Amino acid sequence: MARARSSDGGGNTPSARPSSAPSGPVADATALRDALLRWFDGAKRPLPWRETADPYAVWISEIMCQQTRVDTAAPYFRRWMARFPDVAALAAASEEEVFELWQGLGYYSRARNLRRAAADIHARGGFPNTADELATLPGIGRYSAGAIASIAFRQPTPAVDGNVARVLSRVLAHGATMPSGGDATIWDAAASVATGTRPGDVNQALMELGATVCKPRAPICRDCPLADRCAAHAAGDPETYPVRPPRTAPRPETRIAFALRRSDGATLMARRSGGGLLSGLWQYPMSPPVDPNDGAGAVAAALFGQPLPGLGEAGVVEHTFSHIQMRVVAMVAEVGDASEWTPAGYDETRWVRPGELPPRSRLVAKLAEVVLG
Ligand code: SF4
Repeated sequence: MARARSSDGGGNTPSARPSSAPSGPVADATALRDALLRWFDGAKRPLPWRETADPYAVWISEIMCQQTRVDTAAPYFRRWMARFPDVAALAAASEEEVFELWQGLGYYSRARNLRRAAADIHARGGFPNTADELATLPGIGRYSAGAIASIAFRQPTPAVDGNVARVLSRVLAHGATMPSGGDATIWDAAASVATGTRPGDVNQALMELGATVCKPRAPICRDCPLADRCAAHAAGDPETYPVRPPRTAPRPETRIAFALRRSDGATLMARRSGGGLLSGLWQYPMSPPVDPNDGAGAVAAALFGQPLPGLGEAGVVEHTFSHIQMRVVAMVAEVGDASEWTPAGYDETRWVRPGELPPRSRLVAKLAEVVLG
């Protein structure tokens, strides 16, 4: 199972759309499918989730590999399966336990949705076994539903991720602008080949081909099982497919994080409530976006409902989310033995000694380095 998402060779940069390229359905879907399967049987990489068709394991690996390279995801997958070996174990886990195992993978909403979906599956009394039913679970979109249904349940259904979209857009010389997940022509083409007795392997073969051979730049067409049926290769211009819309630059944002330090060295961390970017994660209380010229004292008073004593800047941390270029000014306040500080927008607080930090995002890990030195 390739499960190599956009970060594993799935991304493309904008390119000019060919004006005279042919496009259309896969001409001989059965022959293309058979060529893919022959290649996949000999070329697939050994990955831990390929040792099972257990729907739970397939689901975990599919979600884990979104936005994450397979070689990064593999050790996480092993640790996860050892700690939460089935739906019941995951459904019974706390959000903090789940975040702890997810720490470092980013996009924590994936972990949160895994736990929610596990509770849902547990309540239903069994794993949904069709793409339509799977797509009703939190965090499972059209791609993931198709991948799980085809791999775990052999349902003949397509699964189009960035890699699959790239391969098929080149085979068809289909130059439409490609949103993530592909367009209707690509989904139709994928559906025409994800058939027969091994639809899951067909989908995985397309993913694997995109990750290892039909790369965004310099595809290795001489090693490709589809070379003699690929329109883009025949035209000599595979890299012009697919066309992606230009990326919009992440918007700049400034926030202020406050590390309240007690005389025993413990700092106050708080768990963000609501459904935002870092909700459910422990962090130093952080302001909403502020004007870079706003004074930290006024921001602190608004966040805590009172001024912070001994406020001083510890440093500045930069962190890029997919859509936000965040600049966080880390402030430290020495609060003696005081313990009651409840920032607005957080549902729980905890005094934490250095070395006992709870599961945290990369941004908070950077802030901790600045604050704790
Ligand atoms: S022949 Fe080249 S461009 Fe076409 S699918 Fe294979 S690797 Fe991609």
